[in-house]
Amino acid sequence: MRDRTISRLSRKRAAFLCILAATLLLTFAASLRYSTPLDGIPHPKIRQLDSGWLYEDGSGLSPLPQLPCRPDFAGETICLVHELSGIAQRPDDVLAIQTRYQAIRVWADQALIYEAAQGKEHALSSMWHFIPSQAYSGASTLRIELTKYDQTSDWELASIALDHPAAIAMYLLQEHLLTILVWLCCMLFSLLMVFITLFMAIRKIEGTQLVLALTAFIFLSGTWILLDSKVTTVFGGNYALTYFFSYCVFYLLPVPLLFYFQLMLKPQSMLLRHLIWIAAGNAGFWMLLHLLGIVSIRNTAVSVHLIIVVFLVLFIGESRRQRKQRKQRLMCTFWGIVLIFTAALASIVLYYTGLLPPTNSAVLYVWSLLALILCMTMDTIMVFGRMWKEKQYIGIYRQLATEDRMTKLANRNAYELRLQELVAHPPHEAAIILFDIDRMKYINDTYGHQMGDQAIALTARCIHEVFGASGECYRIGGDEFCVILTEPCDIPQRLQHFDELVRSRNSHEFTMTVSCGWETRTFEAGKTIAIKDILELKDAADRNLYLSKQRHRSPV
Ligand code: GH3
Ligand code: MG
Repeated sequence: MRDRTISRLSRKRAAFLCILAATLLLTFAASLRYSTPLDGIPHPKIRQLDSGWLYEDGSGLSPLPQLPCRPDFAGETICLVHELSGIAQRPDDVLAIQTRYQAIRVWADQALIYEAAQGKEHALSSMWHFIPSQAYSGASTLRIELTKYDQTSDWELASIALDHPAAIAMYLLQEHLLTILVWLCCMLFSLLMVFITLFMAIRKIEGTQLVLALTAFIFLSGTWILLDSKVTTVFGGNYALTYFFSYCVFYLLPVPLLFYFQLMLKPQSMLLRHLIWIAAGNAGFWMLLHLLGIVSIRNTAVSVHLIIVVFLVLFIGESRRQRKQRKQRLMCTFWGIVLIFTAALASIVLYYTGLLPPTNSAVLYVWSLLALILCMTMDTIMVFGRMWKEKQYIGIYRQLATEDRMTKLANRNAYELRLQELVAHPPHEAAIILFDIDRMKYINDTYGHQMGDQAIALTARCIHEVFGASGECYRIGGDEFCVILTEPCDIPQRLQHFDELVRSRNSHEFTMTVSCGWETRTFEAGKTIAIKDILELKDAADRNLYLSKQRHRSPV
């Protein structure tokens, strides 16, 4: 038994290690695949201006290799020069330049025709600059000046397109099709989760906060993936805003996720419990400083990375402590989130080691996010499957608890609950009719218990036939029954019908009679009543039953 448990544990550990290894492999594959982001806009259908460029080095103009390229140039600002005489001019064309620099300035001969710089008109990140060809028509030389963020990074010059803006935009949209699809998927999934939360809230099902936390996380993730790709700026748009919001969303991402873990694990670690406030405060703090122009938000991303690393360390300790509790909760989602954090950690490592270019930091995240969405879908389906099953069981248990198996009438439990309900919601008028089969013991002793059972079942059927449509019928004891009526009805006439029915349906060799006693009471509208009032009504009916029993007691 112990061996089996150990082997199960080691199998799970091996599975987890496999997932980790797969994530790391994926990380490296992605970093190799995307580690040459110099392609720019290499579309065969788009006209490119990739050759014939010169650059200014200290001694004059030197030829630049075909774009995209990494020139061996040490300066912080590079000036690219191109003769315009040999280029066919089309009035609607635009020059599309992708940059990740702090500033870009473009001159046509001596005239400055375009400028975008961090902290000026636009904040720069990975993005495209569209310069209309009319801006440089008639000029003989085009000069592009690019300024880096820092001295340490190498020059990476992307391909430059020269075509109709619609053609370039179309190409860029195609390039980011996966990003757009993932974003759409996240938005639809979030919407679905909102409906699920509403459904849960209406049905008073526990766990709405958990679903909401995950919804917020998926919504933010999708938004971040879209903003980070800068595809929203393909048709123009505000670069600075996109850039700022992309960072804001990234800074806020850990908040719903930390909330999710807080709900799921109820951590004992104080720091883990307060990390959510640290993450939220960190986001707000840097956003404010950025808006005040004190720091650039892109330079403070390390604070989010630190929070993620601290979380991972604390989380590993906490989940080891609470292994049992974790297993009972959403298993697939749990591993999906472990995967996404592993990918985040791998991205951080690759980011700082320079293996993964910053522009592709979202690639890993996209894949692990898709895996998480899949895990969550599986869990949601499982949770709802379990709920559906439980609902069915609840129906069966309720029936077992409130129904008399022999007569199929409601039993004593149901009767007592109904009395309490009458107290909570008093009707205008209530009647209680009590029934007791005469000489039941004699029937049992003389004709056997089976015959006795048949007498009980026959009485139940007759009561139900006469009173079932207008009142509630209960078997409250061995041969005792009760009918509760809250609508006015001619009780003596119905009881007469009941007597006739019992007599006509009785196929046994013995005569069968049932004593009945009843009482009605009206309650003042809007006035509360106590259980004592209902019990008094029942006692009165009981006294009348006793009188009826006395009348029926005649020698056999
Ligand atoms: P009375 O006319 O005063 O009502 O006399 P009685 O013999 O009917 O006595 P009483 O109502 O006090 O007792 C009910 C009897 O019903 C006791 C028990 O032997 C019998 N009984 C209770 N439950 C069942 C049952 O499920 N099946 C059968 N066959 N008999 C039952
Ligand atoms: Mg009896």
